[in-house]
Amino acid sequence: MRVAGLLVVVAAIAAAAGHPSLGSSSSTGTPRPRGPLGLADGAVPDGTTVFDDEVPGVANLDPALLGALRRAAADSADDGVEFVVDSGWRSRAYQEQLLHEAVLKYGSEAEASRWVATPGRSSHVSGGAVDIGPSGAAAWLSEHGAEHGLCQIYGNEPWHYELRPEAIARGCPPMYSDPTQDPRMQR
Ligand SMILES: [Zn+2]
Repeated sequence: MRVAGLLVVVAAIAAAAGHPSLGSSSSTGTPRPRGPLGLADGAVPDGTTVFDDEVPGVANLDPALLGALRRAAADSADDGVEFVVDSGWRSRAYQEQLLHEAVLKYGSEAEASRWVATPGRSSHVSGGAVDIGPSGAAAWLSEHGAEHGLCQIYGNEPWHYELRPEAIARGCPPMYSDPTQDPRMQR
């Protein structure tokens, strides 16, 4: 849903600036080979679950992360909470697109970097991160995720989870306030 919203924003900005909107043919008449955010790039349909093997954004997640997510989802179902995958694995092209949209939305690369990593650094591109919704599911994970090694990494992203196996014994490590504080994001 956030992706769809961003696309609308980008399209509106492009239209206001007098440029053709995303996805249209270029002036040379060469059509794009596919939409900017296709399934094969890691875009996920609304309502995708951690059990949807046919969705590349789920299937290409790190197997250990996916296993932990499925065990946690089975647990949460007992509490009447269902996980929805808002984003999982992403291709570099998809991550590039998200970063471009974030720069337009936040007005600068510095501000965008608080929310969206570059393709070379994103843990989504490596298959090591998942964004879980709705908020009730993220709340369930904040309480029970550590039992499965699933940890929130950034204070400003309550939906973003990664696998930290040591959390099962020791609890999750302290969060970074946002991705710019994460050593993995430093150049
Ligand atoms: Zn994320």
